[in-house]
Amino acid sequence: MSATLIDGKAVAAALRAEVAASAATLSYTPGLAVVLVGDDPASAVYVRSKDRAAHAAGIAAQTHRLPAETSESDLLALVHRLNADPAVDGILVQMPLPKQIRTEAILDAIDPAKDVDGLTPTNAGLLAAGRPGLVACTPAGVMRLLAGQPLSGARAIVLGRSVLVGRPMAALLTMADATVTLAHSRTRDLPAECRRADIVIAGVGRPEMVRGDWLAPGAVVIDVGINRLADGRLVGDVNFAEAEQVASVLTPVPGGVGPMTIACLLDNTLRAARARRG
Ligand code: NAP
Repeated sequence: MSATLIDGKAVAAALRAEVAASAATLSYTPGLAVVLVGDDPASAVYVRSKDRAAHAAGIAAQTHRLPAETSESDLLALVHRLNADPAVDGILVQMPLPKQIRTEAILDAIDPAKDVDGLTPTNAGLLAAGRPGLVACTPAGVMRLLAGQPLSGARAIVLGRSVLVGRPMAALLTMADATVTLAHSRTRDLPAECRRADIVIAGVGRPEMVRGDWLAPGAVVIDVGINRLADGRLVGDVNFAEAEQVASVLTPVPGGVGPMTIACLLDNTLRAARARRG
């Protein structure tokens, strides 16, 4: 068997076009504020892509670049200013933050109505309770890639339990009536757990950890991982060449989940703008 690949770039482009078309019908320009603390090169790349994609979709993006030594209270002051700014509909503070800043303190300060990353305790809690709110972008993107796959009653396994990926992913799959196993670094016999699943979502940050013989024939496999190898290659958490022989559907890295994250950020910004401004 050779798996059908899901073209995340194409699905993301369609969503970005949808957001742009909706934004063009509004009487105001939705605003997105992105905050970058420090000079982590990967974060700088993400922030530039977010800025470009927002402008292309008719969203006014402003990027706030702060030095690596910024104090927690200075960052909190900026978040409070952005919370109060009526032109700002969405706030995204790029993670990871320098170690003198407590991530929880910043997330607690972001107005949940502007939390387009879906990471505040309010939005994470609403999702856990199965209630509407702003949903974390990467798992929201995965759900869009899974559109058309039978989820109701399916056995799904999510590898990784981070606040950013695994936990919201498990909640979304549960809401879609899948039977979900949330696995992590202490899970016993992970290959056997994976082999039981119809749907495998890998978000662990371990290059090519999921091998072909971990998968049930015909499994649907979504690879969230983005890992840079020493030789410069970008690979996922799934061994692509092996998985392609066993899975029925598979996402590539790059070009699978990655592009969906930014597209969902734009979608969340539009949702937040509509909800705030009516
Ligand atoms: P994270 O916060 O480091 O969490 C990793 C999770 O994986 C943890 O729950 C950890 O378990 C689990 N884990 C680690 N090693 C494991 C192992 N050997 N077996 C089973 N579970 C293991 O990472 P993250 O932020 O969720 O990101 C995960 C991956 O997704 C990374 O490659 C990241 O680059 C990628 N990512 C991609 C996008 C995108 O746009 N495509 C967005 C975000 C993240 P414990 O909890 O037990 O430690």
